[in-house]
Formats: sequence, C-alpha cells, structure tokens
Amino acid sequence: MSECLFCRIVEGDVPADIVLRTDRVVAFRDINPQAPVHVLVIPTSHHANAAEIAAADPALAGELLAAAAQVAEAEGLSGGYRIVLNTGADAGQTVFHVHAHVLGGRDLLWPPG
Ligand code: AMP
Ligand code: ZN
Repeated sequence: MSECLFCRIVEGDVPADIVLRTDRVVAFRDINPQAPVHVLVIPTSHHANAAEIAAADPALAGELLAAAAQVAEAEGLSGGYRIVLNTGADAGQTVFHVHAHVLGGRDLLWPPG
C-alpha cells in the first residue's frame, strides 16, 4: 500500500468526496475547507510538486489546470476563483503529491485585506 496519502485516495484506500475523476486526474473536496468551495485536483500518478510534474509530464500539468477549470465551472464559480499550488515546505506544502487548490465562493481579492 502506498505511503502517500493522496496516492491512497486515488487507489480508494482513503475515502474522499470525489467531484471529478478521469484516468489521469482526480478532484475531491478539501477536508479542512478555507472557502465555501475548496477542491483539490491531483494527478493519479505521483509527482511531489508543481515543479516536478512540469518537468516530468508537462501535458499532465496542463490537464491538472484544465480539470481545475472544469471543477470551477461545475461548482458555479463564474465570478472567479483562485488556483493555488503550494510548492515546498516553506510555502506550506504538507502533502507531497502535487495538488491544485481550487478556492472560491467568496471574495478572494489579492492581496488579502
Ligand atoms: P498543502 O498544505 O498545500 O499541502 O495542502 C494540503 C491540503 O490537503 C490541506 O488543505 C488539507 O486540509 C488537505 N487534506 C489533508 N488530508 C486530506 C484528506 N484526507 N482529504 C481531503 N483533504 C485533505
Ligand atoms: Zn502520491
């Protein structure tokens, strides 16, 4: 069994509220949402972070962004949303399987006021 939490979600060994699944990407609701809509989009294959997926499989990195947009549309975020890819511990990355946070449903103007 994988030691990576998000690989285990892909494999179905850890339950998740999945909103989108293809052969190559899975999207599920964050267990500790920071906005009314907070979905994580991950590749089904393991890459530690955004830099690694971009180097190893740029097409898959693109598919991750396309899936994020698809989730945002399905969640009704027509007014805008934020895609966040925390990359490395100094940026607060805690799960080292690349994931795009899709955040929306409230005012997300940047920088935070
Ligand atoms: P990051 O800090 O960018 O690595 O984000 C990791 C995210 O994964 C956090 O927002 C957590 O709330 C979320 N998370 C951790 N465990 C789970 C889980 N089992 N199901 C859904 N989201 C999770
Ligand atoms: Zn993994």
